[in-house]
Amino acid sequence: MTRSRPVVAIDGPAGAGKSTVTLRVATALGYFVVDTGALYRAIALACELAGIDFDDFERVGTLAEALVAKQAVSIEGDARGGSRVLLDGKDVSGAIRTQTLSQGASKVSAQPRVRAALLELQRSAGRSGGVVLEGRDIGTVVFPDAEVKVFLTASVEERARRRFEQLRAAGVDADIEAVKREVEERDQRDSSRPIAPLRKAPDALVVDSSVLSIDQVVARIVTRVREVAVELAAQ
Ligand code: C5P
Repeated sequence: MTRSRPVVAIDGPAGAGKSTVTLRVATALGYFVVDTGALYRAIALACELAGIDFDDFERVGTLAEALVAKQAVSIEGDARGGSRVLLDGKDVSGAIRTQTLSQGASKVSAQPRVRAALLELQRSAGRSGGVVLEGRDIGTVVFPDAEVKVFLTASVEERARRRFEQLRAAGVDADIEAVKREVEERDQRDSSRPIAPLRKAPDALVVDSSVLSIDQVVARIVTRVREVAVELAAQ
């Protein structure tokens, strides 16, 4: 489909800096942000609240389908130019940021029924363009026709170090080796699942945030989006 403004897909592993970069790129361009991981986290939270095991394939799938059907899970813009996720009308953007729900989201997202239930939600959030979506499969599955695709990555050591610092800043008593194992485990699960695995789209711009500063990463992506936006506007 032809859009007047680009869809920007930012995929990559946990801890590569996607959230920070997505927010800064969107702010620089005046675009909306859609944090698709927050939707998987909201499903994991709903499972936790309902006492459903993240690995209980049938019940997790049924719950996700029911939540989406009654529009009990949704994503919208927040006051800072980011996005917030609602579960049963409640803003759960803070509540979904726990270690348990990071692993839970990674588990429930490997289930085809969960992915299918959330697909249309993500597409309708981004379809008209002027949006930056961050996730794992945006450039490969959700918007294979995205005008700009970025695969943002960093070394596992660097990603573990950043998670560790985030946890410490939040007052969580974390162990760096345990954080590193958790990051590796999540990457392994996200990359090896049969459906929509974390994978670089063939036409994605690869950006390694372990060798570039955040400013450089943001500048590189914004420049690319502006070039594409000019081409689109000229069509
Ligand atoms: O990005 P975030 O850490 O919030 O994502 C949580 C989990 O949700 C990821 O580990 C991944 O398993 C899943 N996810 C996904 N597809 C997306 C976004 C997130 O499978 N587009």
